[in-house]
Amino acid sequence: MQNATLPVMERFYTIQGEGKNQGKAAWFIRLAGCDVGCVWCDVKESWEESKHPVVLISDLVAEAVQSGTPNVVITGGEPLLHDLWQITKELKEAGLEIWLETSGSSPLTGYFDWICVSPKKFKAPLPEVLNQSHEFKAVVFHKSDFEWVNTFIPNLNPSCELFLQPEWSKKNEITPLIVEYVKTNPKWRLSLQSHKYIDIP
Ligand code: SF4
Repeated sequence: MQNATLPVMERFYTIQGEGKNQGKAAWFIRLAGCDVGCVWCDVKESWEESKHPVVLISDLVAEAVQSGTPNVVITGGEPLLHDLWQITKELKEAGLEIWLETSGSSPLTGYFDWICVSPKKFKAPLPEVLNQSHEFKAVVFHKSDFEWVNTFIPNLNPSCELFLQPEWSKKNEITPLIVEYVKTNPKWRLSLQSHKYIDIP
């Protein structure tokens, strides 16, 4: 698959701000296109794939290597709208660790060291993607969401790590609710969007 491309909204070097890998340096590749439509989405500019350039996979891999980090995050948009076999194969051959951030609502393609599924009410995650995830990170927007997030547990691998993260615009209201929830349900952990608190990408 020479000269293969993917539509890309942006790529940048920062730290992973949330979830299990919070605080680790990572090169981010944000693919364009999303069919999920979350009302509180903070990257709505990513939704329209046609508004973003296509980039050679070989260039994406070269940039990731050049960044000097061992870790690459493939995010979106919804990255699983694209075939990720080729890019993940080339990233792996370059010796990089690959993490995926997905809603899990489209079939899984690609080789990943860490799969984080963040379920969305607007398009449910597929059971087979849930089952292969290492991390389940649910964004809590309303107090009724605690019941909703638990409906996915039967589809998760028992070793999957569970996180609850307040939706950013409601963090002052929701964070204390998550703290209390985690205290009584300690299989869950609190995830905060640390990159937003310190105003980095
Ligand atoms: Fe936005 Fe992600 Fe929801 Fe798509 S899945 S609408 S990119 S928050």
